[in-house]
Amino acid sequence: MNGIYIALGSNIGDREGNLKRALDMLEESSVHIIKKSKFYETKPYGVADQPDFLNAVAEVSADMQPIDLLHTMQDIERCMGRERKRHWGERNIDLDLLIYPNVIMDTPELTLPHKDMENREFVLRPMTEIAPDLVHPVLGSTMQELLNALLY
Ligand code: AMP
Repeated sequence: MNGIYIALGSNIGDREGNLKRALDMLEESSVHIIKKSKFYETKPYGVADQPDFLNAVAEVSADMQPIDLLHTMQDIERCMGRERKRHWGERNIDLDLLIYPNVIMDTPELTLPHKDMENREFVLRPMTEIAPDLVHPVLGSTMQELLNALLY
């Protein structure tokens, strides 16, 4: 299944190394990277008094149901020793499942498309780089349109 999108973020330690390691670990977990964005330096969202983030998104393909993919991503976070100091706070790695083709769901464990992605420049900028014409399955707007709406 192609056309799955994952967001990556890091704001502690070797941020670039952390993103690269997470991408490598996805590959090792049979989540194949089809396309990846550049790494974007961004201001923290939510909690302001913390270091800047490095963010990226990747299009991946995987033979897994969404919940199994989420668990694979959480295993990688755990394996990389993710510590969560506070909600929306600093972390060495954060992996979010943004979009899974033809899946719209809202459960306590998993919301697809990712809740609030349309309000996050650090998601929409890299998404617009790799998939400007991809339509948000609920909002019906492209990534480019969502970014423009957020910025202007
Ligand atoms: P965070 O601390 O931002 O990584 O949030 C992690 C929590 O969000 C976990 O408890 C997940 O079960 C939940 N969650 C809900 N939807 C998603 C999603 N699309 N991608 C990643 N985590 C999600």
